[in-house]
Amino acid sequence: MSNMVAPDQTPVWVNEARCKACDICVSRCPAGVLGMRLDPHKVLGKVIEVIHPESCIGCQECELHCPDFAIYVADRKEFKFAKITQEAKDRAQKVRDNKFMAID
Ligand code: SF4
Ligand code: SF4
Repeated sequence: MSNMVAPDQTPVWVNEARCKACDICVSRCPAGVLGMRLDPHKVLGKVIEVIHPESCIGCQECELHCPDFAIYVADRKEFKFAKITQEAKDRAQKVRDNKFMAID
């Protein structure tokens, strides 16, 4: 399946084949949507995961800063994104404090 085609009703998605597990998208996400997971099958031993898609505010920080063009955000005309909440901000901080690894 090509991840370049926007999946239906999905705010943010990843082409894992392109992801180099650099953590940049996780570090930029203000809403705690993203996190890294350990994955022994990957060269770097971890992989990006969209853990809280319901919190995505569509800011595009992840897509704009990914050096490998591996993460994509839906078009604002086609997806109704969430509004930022304190819970989401707190989760983002916890993920940063956890060296970008997912906390749940
Ligand atoms: S679009 Fe913004 S809120 Fe959504 S995953 Fe990317 S950085 Fe996080
Ligand atoms: S910024 Fe891109 S390459 Fe880096 S972890 Fe995120 S999706 Fe993967």
